[in-house]
Amino acid sequence: MVMTDYPSPSDRLKGTKSTTFGLFRPVLFAIGASGLAMGGLVLSHRSNPDIPRPPPVATVSEAPETPVANLPPLVLVDSEPAPPITAADFKAPLDFKGFQMKPQEGPAEPEPPANEPYELTLRLEKGDTIEKMLADIDVPEADRKQVAEKLQSLLKKRRLAVGETIELQMQPLPDQPDTSRVLSLSVRPQPEREYVVTRKDDGSYDAEEKIYKVSPRIVRVEGERSGSLQQSGMKAGAPSAAMIEFIRALSYDVDFQRELKEGQKFTVLLEQLVTSDGLVTHPGRLLAGELRLMKRTVTVIRFRPQGGADGFYNPQGESVVRSFLRTPMDASRITSRFGMREHPILGFSALHAGVDFGAPTGTPILAAGNGRVVSAGPNGGYGLYVKLQHTQDVATAYAHMSRIGPGIKPGVTVRQGQVIGFVGSTGMSTGPHLHYEFHRGGKQVNPLAQKFAMRGTVGGKDAARFQTLARQYLSQMKNAPVAADIAKKAAEKKTTQNPKDSASSQVARTN
Ligand SMILES: [Zn+2]
Repeated sequence: MVMTDYPSPSDRLKGTKSTTFGLFRPVLFAIGASGLAMGGLVLSHRSNPDIPRPPPVATVSEAPETPVANLPPLVLVDSEPAPPITAADFKAPLDFKGFQMKPQEGPAEPEPPANEPYELTLRLEKGDTIEKMLADIDVPEADRKQVAEKLQSLLKKRRLAVGETIELQMQPLPDQPDTSRVLSLSVRPQPEREYVVTRKDDGSYDAEEKIYKVSPRIVRVEGERSGSLQQSGMKAGAPSAAMIEFIRALSYDVDFQRELKEGQKFTVLLEQLVTSDGLVTHPGRLLAGELRLMKRTVTVIRFRPQGGADGFYNPQGESVVRSFLRTPMDASRITSRFGMREHPILGFSALHAGVDFGAPTGTPILAAGNGRVVSAGPNGGYGLYVKLQHTQDVATAYAHMSRIGPGIKPGVTVRQGQVIGFVGSTGMSTGPHLHYEFHRGGKQVNPLAQKFAMRGTVGGKDAARFQTLARQYLSQMKNAPVAADIAKKAAEKKTTQNPKDSASSQVARTN
């Protein structure tokens, strides 16, 4: 047996019976109590062998005080499929490298009778097998052979992953208190699948595969901004990925520098995936979110239009993504607005059919939206000029360029933000600036007045479906169960359970 940083299980079992009981008995509780959190934690242990382990438990006093169950839900990690184990893993020399125990939780219990059943959680290490693992904790040979064979008959060709958690219910033999038999062994390689081997009265073992149904559950997370919005969300129990998505959806509308203040409240609505016995297999996908700013509340709603991709919309059904940039340039200032004005060169009053942005010569000009180049070249008083067609109805034009962007010529498509040219003063111009026009239905309109109309909107057949969904989400953001409450309730339910009932907890989980 190769020992690493864990004390030998047999050393621990021998001569320290009362301590051992104190430690082992709460093991399943700790797992049960942590319920939601452990689902993710155990999975991440399995898929990432480098994740820090709890410190080795040598004596009761060295056990860390913080039970796993009390960790904030941010320990939830998106579970990844377990790494496959190859045939070599099972043929490898057997070495049991140690086992993992959960720290003691709650007050110490009175010493139980000598053959009282107790629970044990072991971790499958590299090169380990079930039989070897059971040998290491002094399970009689006949029993461990039977248990291992029964489990293998369930698993068939499937292999258990390194780091897999094995839950055992043990009972010391009446005549040999240092030796324990296995009352039951269970392993749950996937949240929806559990394999259980149970001892029958006649001493033989039964094997059973339990399937848990996975279904979505809608929960809300409410938080208050303290520091970064992402961290605040995670503290309140939202997964990081959902918060990142929320922030991205808000970013088109919210000026994070100016509008975001400490203490502002937010709510995110999440869709979790949960097994029929309450194990969370996905910590939550963002369905909707709401951020209460000083003067307004910004709400985003996930929606997938027919034949389209998921996107976020405001409750009016407008995409949060703006179809057009507010300004087709970085760092510019408006030098002349749309409207009637005295022409600086021609000297008479005329419609200024665009907006002028003052910027140094050579400043890159960006395509205001996705589109196709319909014109690129000299164009009279416009000087070097580019026109983009975005939709049948909408076009934008850019004038007085010093030069046209690389590859920009009629017929090519451009993406929003792509450089289509550089600021100059060609044509009828008094100094370097961009003259920017917005065309709707062939007529020039004020670009600055278009920003709200220019969002993509949910339309046609999608509109009714969107409105129903939006109403539902808005109400659920007020009424859906709070994720943290569910986790707390599950934890309370497990910890208030009588320790003797825990023996039946594995059976109860099949409900
Ligand atoms: Zn102009």
